[in-house]
Amino acid sequence: MTTLAGSAPSRNTAPIDANDATHPGDLAPAALRAALHRAADLVADYVTGVDRYPVIPKIAPGAIRAALPSAPPQSAEPMDAMLADYLRLIEPNTTHWRHPGFMAYFPTTGSGPGVVAELLAAGLNNNAMLWRTGPASTELEEHVCDWLRQMVGLPAGFHGHINDTASISTLLSLAAARERAGLDIRRRGMAGRSDVPTLTIYCSDQTHSSIDKAALTLGIGVENCRRVATNARFELDIDALERQLAADKAAGCKPIAIVATIGTTSTTAVDPVAKLADIAAREGMWLHVDGAYAGSAAICPEMRDAFAGWERADSIVINPHKWLFVPKECSVLWVRDPQLLKQTFSVIPAYLTTTESVTNLMDLGIQLGRRFRSLKLWMVLRSFGVEGLQQRIRFHCDMARELAAWIEADDRFELTAPVPFATVCFRATPPFPAQIQDQFNERLVTRVNAEGPVFVSHTTLKGRYCLRISIGNLRTTRETLRTAWTLINDHATKLMSEFGAAH
Ligand code: PLP
Repeated sequence: MTTLAGSAPSRNTAPIDANDATHPGDLAPAALRAALHRAADLVADYVTGVDRYPVIPKIAPGAIRAALPSAPPQSAEPMDAMLADYLRLIEPNTTHWRHPGFMAYFPTTGSGPGVVAELLAAGLNNNAMLWRTGPASTELEEHVCDWLRQMVGLPAGFHGHINDTASISTLLSLAAARERAGLDIRRRGMAGRSDVPTLTIYCSDQTHSSIDKAALTLGIGVENCRRVATNARFELDIDALERQLAADKAAGCKPIAIVATIGTTSTTAVDPVAKLADIAAREGMWLHVDGAYAGSAAICPEMRDAFAGWERADSIVINPHKWLFVPKECSVLWVRDPQLLKQTFSVIPAYLTTTESVTNLMDLGIQLGRRFRSLKLWMVLRSFGVEGLQQRIRFHCDMARELAAWIEADDRFELTAPVPFATVCFRATPPFPAQIQDQFNERLVTRVNAEGPVFVSHTTLKGRYCLRISIGNLRTTRETLRTAWTLINDHATKLMSEFGAAH
């Protein structure tokens, strides 16, 4: 196990006197300025030098808590001490999502302009629950969501707002779908009602777990979130959906929504959205499109085939915090009928009534208070421009195709799913029975990740363990990718002799 200590360089080291005589505990104006300069240096040093760390810190669970005082401080502590502890304890013991070698899950990059925006938003500490309590925040949010709508080629007629995560965006959409079913559930609930049939939702067996969480939160039940089989390309099978729908209707269920995914979590498969839109229209069901990951790729016109039909959805989610280089948390939800979202969620106590005819963002979801999330989206979009963002996404997809070609050219490995975007699933195919092969691949992931320069993840496809590399970090280069591939090859060779001797 390595040490907890970090030692990043920091330029501005003059002591910061945190003692504000008028506001004890807060930073006096000069101290605030000094602390912000120091923090700016820390961030810039971190961002430019993050690759000196292994992507995953080599610490055991519990190590951080063991290094912290067990009781809170009774009296004021100096900012210098906090920043020193940050450098010693926090920064080095973080999993470095910023690292160019981060290729696990879906990589994210809080790009520079986004970081600056986060600082400005923290300074404002605005709460745009009502237009009145955050006019700039409310209007910028609606405006940049509309910029993004235009960027991804969606027609006018969608209203966008920002949530923290896609999980929440999807929950809100499915709540609206439930409301539209006309069962007065908002007022009367579902329990103890003989007039409420079993409500059902449909998605593929590859759909993100956030759909199950929405189903359980909304009282629909995980079991009634029907996970329909997928084809060899991991896309929802329309015939299987039709069979499930027919069976459910015959059993007296009320189908209320279909969730189509463009870019599923394991393999980034694309469901047949246009066909699902036809079925949703025929059955009077809500269509929600989960583009949390791949939605960003629609800014590249040549990739729009994958999105055919999404313009017919009732709601669509995209996470700019995934693949548009915006710091977490930034999930854009577009709905065709914001009035319905309002009908689903709006509760206005006397102390929050207003006279203006405006959007009050508190009406569009569960949370009342909200931070100024649109500032970072605005600044990132302006800083890169549409062309800059397109260029990055194309580069990531090119690198993924390159990796897929290396895998296909090497008879010790096989691709285990198509590569429509920038995520590659594959596995080594040593000449052992399936179970041993799975152990081999699992060990391969552990060994590669223990090295430090890269972090790859895994998934299970058709019951078999696979490696999964996703390219989405702004600083990932061809050289990083070659490093990953070399490590995978070297460890596969070593494991071959170990497993060969043992089996
Ligand atoms: N949908 C898809 C397709 C995802 O891949 C993910 C997360 O990776 C989510 C939804 C959930 O995203 P969030 O973490 O923003 O809730």
